[in-house]
Amino acid sequence: MMRPSGTTRLAGVIGDPVRHSLSPALHNAGFAHLGLDWTYVALEVPAGGGAAAVAAMRALGIDGLSVTMPLKAEVADACDELSPAAAMLGAVNCVRRSGDRLIGENTDGVGFVNSLRSQAGVEPVGKHAVVLGAGGAARAVVVALVSEGTSVTIVNRSIEPAMRAAELGKTAALAAGVGSSMSVMVGAPGAVRDADLVVNATPLGMHGSDPLPVEPELLHGGQLVVDLIYTPAVTPILEIADEAGAQTLNGTGMLLFQAAEQFKMWTGRDAPTRAMGAAVGLDIAG
Ligand code: NDP
Repeated sequence: MMRPSGTTRLAGVIGDPVRHSLSPALHNAGFAHLGLDWTYVALEVPAGGGAAAVAAMRALGIDGLSVTMPLKAEVADACDELSPAAAMLGAVNCVRRSGDRLIGENTDGVGFVNSLRSQAGVEPVGKHAVVLGAGGAARAVVVALVSEGTSVTIVNRSIEPAMRAAELGKTAALAAGVGSSMSVMVGAPGAVRDADLVVNATPLGMHGSDPLPVEPELLHGGQLVVDLIYTPAVTPILEIADEAGAQTLNGTGMLLFQAAEQFKMWTGRDAPTRAMGAAVGLDIAG
């Protein structure tokens, strides 16, 4: 294993909590696989510290930052420039350098779509998805799916966030040129029955005592059910979906593929997804 030296380039994840993060394992496996003189660390930065962390990135010459809860919005305000996805979502999960400028990116949506393609062999165009939840992860998924030509129904316990997510989806449809032909709406839980793709973007399933995010009888064969949660690896909704004959995926793939996009932005090299996936227990072809 290559040890850090005077020439080692540095990347890391900022957030709070961050010590449990799988990102160091993912990125360091990628650096090692390609023999790159880079290292990736976890840096605990509490809420309110996002702007100072971006200033530190600039001052210290850090080459890349991943950004997680609760800093995604405040880091967006502190970057010199935002990618279209980060600007639309008002959330940054990755900062990269471009000369002297720090560019805020958001790779969550592309990571989600790439995990569908690579792990489930599912092409999102023309599909109908139900997204359960309307928080930060749900919004990234909605924007990415709509941009790929998927029609989306958002189901959430509170109406206002769902309406805002649907508006964002409509803006994304226009920006992607899929325009008014694309359907993005707020719906009721029963919409799950007619969905090709069901995405749990709520935290329900992280704890044993959580209720299911959806009525079990709405799940059936022919569907792909994705839970964005990756701990535990098999949540109750995935267990029930599997029993019902649906295809299932947990959130580890999204985590891997959003990291892969960041890796490429920082290093200029295609991410070795097989080696990176193996570091977090995923068997990725290629
Ligand atoms: P947010 O807090 O931004 O949003 C949570 C959403 O879930 C909201 O819509 C909220 O509804 C809903 N919700 C929360 N609690 C309940 C409940 N008890 N019953 C019904 N609905 C509920 O969280 P994030 O969007 O950041 O994260 C959501 C999930 O996605 C988490 O499990 C997170 O770990 C996972 N995630 C996975 C990633 C990956 O790479 N795999 C990346 C990012 C997130 P309301 O609007 O009514 O409050």
